[in-house]
Amino acid sequence: ESIHLRQGDFVIFKDDLNSNINERLEQLNTIRNSIADNFKGFFLCYQPIVDSKTTKLTGVEALIRWKNDTYGLVPPNNFIPILEKDSSFSQLGDWILKTAMSDMQPLLLDYPDLEVNINLSYTQLEKNDFVENIEKIISQTNFPKKNLCLEITERCRLLDTDLLRNFTEVLSKQNIKFALDDFGTGFSSFNVLKNIKIDIIKIDRDFVKNILTSKSDKIIVNSISKLCKEFEFDLCIEGIETPEIMDFLRKIYVTNFQGYLFSKPLTKEEFYKKYSV
Ligand code: C2E
Ligand code: MG
Ligand code: MG
Ligand code: MG
Repeated sequence: ESIHLRQGDFVIFKDDLNSNINERLEQLNTIRNSIADNFKGFFLCYQPIVDSKTTKLTGVEALIRWKNDTYGLVPPNNFIPILEKDSSFSQLGDWILKTAMSDMQPLLLDYPDLEVNINLSYTQLEKNDFVENIEKIISQTNFPKKNLCLEITERCRLLDTDLLRNFTEVLSKQNIKFALDDFGTGFSSFNVLKNIKIDIIKIDRDFVKNILTSKSDKIIVNSISKLCKEFEFDLCIEGIETPEIMDFLRKIYVTNFQGYLFSKPLTKEEFYKKYSV
């Protein structure tokens, strides 16, 4: 059975005019109940991240899914933005961290340098016990900190800069890495670069999918690449679907690729089947 998302697979949380407040509340209620019911229907998929030169596995990104009888398979863009503002999200955020770390831990025997990327929502960071909380989860799962990479998005700019700087500093000292996700899609990216400790920049598929024909995408991606080289950041380009795009991007500074060309997000079982040696 395929877990991959197709357009039209979902009906929930669509930003259309037909879904009224009552429907939305019902949807939010269903998802809250699933969280309360031992995270029923939630699971993580894992998408490989590869070395840009060798295309060998270097890392993996955990991506959440929710499957529900009424709504079917719901992609994260349709529930994370709504749920993250809800108080129930902090439990789900902890569950994501715990599950990703314990799922991927055994694979470190085969891939000791594997980087496990986990997306954070700004509402998780907003909590003043975030550092203690993540340290607690890490000690529970016994996951090696050097294998952990936390992805933050530009929406985190809504947070206090001092707060951002503070926790990235504290956790970086413990060898946890930070990736800035969806770079260039929001505002004030440069501020973030100046103020917080970043190891990796990720470029969104939006800048990549038309890169062979779009002059502006070429200019943008080229500029981000130069910036990363100067700052000595790793650069991961996402959404690579064709060999032509890969070859084109190999001409600029880039350290890692992620995209359907290498693999779609896989269930834990599929991931193990494909990658454990
Ligand atoms: P993201 O963190 O930028 O994740 C990359 C998205 O691009 C994923 O979508 C992935 O499946 C998709 N993708 C990767 N390669 C390709 C490709 O070659 N072609 C195409 N068409 N798509 C590709 P997904 O899994 O639907 O996730 C969407 C967003 O939802 C994520 O974007 C992230 O912002 C958020 N998200 C996903 N899981 C989590 C989570 O556990 N926690 C939080 N806070 N957010 C999450
Ligand atoms: Mg991400
Ligand atoms: Mg991304
Ligand atoms: Mg994205």
